[in-house]
Amino acid sequence: MDFAPAIDLSGKCVTVMGLGRFGGGTAVVRFLASRGARVTVTDLLNEDDLAESLAGVADCPVEAYHLGGHIEDDFIDADLVVVNPAVLPTNPFLDRAREYGVPLTSEMALFWQFHAGRTLAVTGSNGKSTTTAMTHAILQAAGLPCRLGGNIGRSLLPEVDEIAANEWSVLELSSFQLEDLDRLPASPNVAVVTNFSPNHLDWHGCLSAYRRAKQTILRWQTPDDAAVLNQDDADVREWPTFGRTLWFGSKDAGRDGVFESGDQHVLRLEAREEMFPLADWVPLPGRHNLQNAMAAACAAVAAGADLDAVRRGLESYRALPHRLERVGQIAGRTFYNDSLATTPESTMVALEAFSQPIVLLVGGYDKQIDLAPLADAVARRVKTAALMGQTAEALGCLVESVPDSERLAMRECATFEEAFHWAVDHSDPGDVVLLSPGCASYDWFHNYAERGRRFIDLVQAWRPAMAEG
Ligand code: ADP
Repeated sequence: MDFAPAIDLSGKCVTVMGLGRFGGGTAVVRFLASRGARVTVTDLLNEDDLAESLAGVADCPVEAYHLGGHIEDDFIDADLVVVNPAVLPTNPFLDRAREYGVPLTSEMALFWQFHAGRTLAVTGSNGKSTTTAMTHAILQAAGLPCRLGGNIGRSLLPEVDEIAANEWSVLELSSFQLEDLDRLPASPNVAVVTNFSPNHLDWHGCLSAYRRAKQTILRWQTPDDAAVLNQDDADVREWPTFGRTLWFGSKDAGRDGVFESGDQHVLRLEAREEMFPLADWVPLPGRHNLQNAMAAACAAVAAGADLDAVRRGLESYRALPHRLERVGQIAGRTFYNDSLATTPESTMVALEAFSQPIVLLVGGYDKQIDLAPLADAVARRVKTAALMGQTAEALGCLVESVPDSERLAMRECATFEEAFHWAVDHSDPGDVVLLSPGCASYDWFHNYAERGRRFIDLVQAWRPAMAEG
């Protein structure tokens, strides 16, 4: 976006574009109101859609609400517009603001300008939330003052004045947030990049723009900052930084960082070297979670934690909801909710995470993407597949076209309940029953969280007698 906002917000006319339903917009409104700004809220959604968020700002003195659409005056008569990260940069209302010289900013940029503490920021195409939350858990175990926020679903903006100079804000940053932070310019004390693969091209326009936005996390670093980079990722390996680089990865080439070393891991930092059994400390399934733990361990050590805190932080860590979340074990079957797996790649990662036979609930809203790689993974790895939603038929046909897929039991199910019950009826003790749809949920649910909660409800209501009887 264009240029930095005025720091003194008192009496300024500020438009909040996009109150949204995920808390970022309400945090902005609360912050602006506390600074004495004259706030206008505008959103494409209407009052009913936004009921929860509106209740969250009911006690704030908002001057005007323009909901169910935007009006030009809010963009050309304002002193500042705070733009929701979901808004495309090409939005015509933003063009009007630019024409009139009205500065644009974002929730995260405001946080960055007003906070006085230290920052540890995580980005990447996959594993951001998990790595961020693991890092925060380790810093907590180390007794370092810290807070968790950003794209993970919690804005630290309303509490920005409470953050002390020695306190760490552990932040998940999306490419949208980073794009806006570039103009400050913002530089985290510790920056982490988990990995890089094509994503959000609708928003950024092309792969190089998406990469450039992500690289903001490193762009303004100085040698006093640390960069924690994935050595196994051929793209990230080449990303430039002036920060002190720590690496994590599967091959120990003598660099500083955290690496696999036989069946252990090694931490190397300024000629100090320690071996440790990282895999024993990570209570989550999957190689991808071990990679996330390597990144988190490396970042936390860069922030001052020791290996004992890494162990305690990871051992106490619990999966975030809907990300390979272990729901429980009933009659020898272990149930996992991976409803957040809304892309084929996430489901493929989940299928690699287990050695037991897998009974899979898969399919959903049709984003018109190529499902052949997912079908191939299902055919190779799954014992029974309940096919759901708009993609059920196409996915079934693709699986059938994979050689030797006849051994797989499959069924197209008309409802989520049918899928669940058919799946458990075709499961055996020792199996993993996994909801990992590989598709979005909008055909049957409002969102992935509702789908995940429905799965958990069905698991909790399921009785072994139903299987045996
Ligand atoms: P993000 O915040 O980047 O979306 P999450 O930590 O929320 O990532 O994980 C979301 C899903 O992404 C997980 O359920 C898993 O399927 C997949 N995932 C997590 N970590 C990794 C990783 N390091 N590499 C590849 N896929 C991953």
